[in-house]
Amino acid sequence: MQETTVCTAVWYCPVPRFFMAKTAVARLARKTKYELTPCAICGSREAVAVANRADLQREMERVWTFHNARFRHPVPPKYLTDRVVFSQLPAWRLVRCASCTHLYRSPRETPETVKRTYSEDALSESVYESAYARQSFFYRAQVERLLAFAGRVQHGLEVGSYTGGFLAAALEAGLSFTGIDVNPGATAFGARHGLPIATCSLEELNPSQMYDAIVIWNTFEQLSDVKSACLVANRLLRKGGVLAVRVPNSAFYTRWRHHLNDVWAPWAERMLVHNNLLGFPYREGFTARSLSRLLKDSGFTIGRVQGDTLVRVSDGWTKRAAVLDEWVTKELQRLTQRGWEAPWVEVYATTS
Ligand SMILES: [Zn+2]
Repeated sequence: MQETTVCTAVWYCPVPRFFMAKTAVARLARKTKYELTPCAICGSREAVAVANRADLQREMERVWTFHNARFRHPVPPKYLTDRVVFSQLPAWRLVRCASCTHLYRSPRETPETVKRTYSEDALSESVYESAYARQSFFYRAQVERLLAFAGRVQHGLEVGSYTGGFLAAALEAGLSFTGIDVNPGATAFGARHGLPIATCSLEELNPSQMYDAIVIWNTFEQLSDVKSACLVANRLLRKGGVLAVRVPNSAFYTRWRHHLNDVWAPWAERMLVHNNLLGFPYREGFTARSLSRLLKDSGFTIGRVQGDTLVRVSDGWTKRAAVLDEWVTKELQRLTQRGWEAPWVEVYATTS
């Protein structure tokens, strides 16, 4: 693998109110290292360019402008995380694998950079508290879907627990789940709430028993090696055990970004921004074909595909009209976009 260090110029943001966030972006850029890799799913080096750095910067500027008009200013910078400031910088280039249709960054951040980025992503107690309150409510839906798919699940593992919202919802449903996350600040917060979360990666885990289920919600697309994660998950699951992943649908992103400058622009922009897909701030972008191939190659059989939207991202710093706008957009999406037509997709699979 070829590895290079890229000195990134400060990412230009046209919205002066977010200056503090810009300095955080510049700090992150100085630490980031990149490498050129083949497709993480099928190993092919044949790929088609989808978006370059200038395209992605224009998209991110639309994200900033979109949220700027909807915030109740002045918003403390710490509350901008995961709306206008993401853990990873915008990609230099997004490409689609010519063989399996997977969308990925090329060049991409090295595994060491990915681990450091999420390990050092420390936030304040109030931000963790806000995330925990929202997630422990919204993750009840994932618990219900998991039990509907496999009612026998009792003992499980969550990868990327963050502050423990899913663990709290699982505990409430009488399930015994433990969690892992590489962010020590988030896991310490979860531990203070009495939740069993360890600070480590899936590859570093050494459990004493097999699991009924392993779940990875909104984290799978940010792992440094998704193939390795699937193989490790297969080893840690008992026969017939469940792997559930929730991922961004890159086919949704590539389809709707083409409408950002035509008559569909207001609708396309809403759907992409409310689901954190504009600018595609993720490491991996799955399609039905690429995720099916990854799971099959790792010894899994897909049992259920559930299309969904991202959970609500508006909060107390969002104008009331904007909260309504997000709610209406996502309700319409839930009614009209099912399965792999949806912006986010949950896939439930069992070991073969
Ligand atoms: Zn591929």
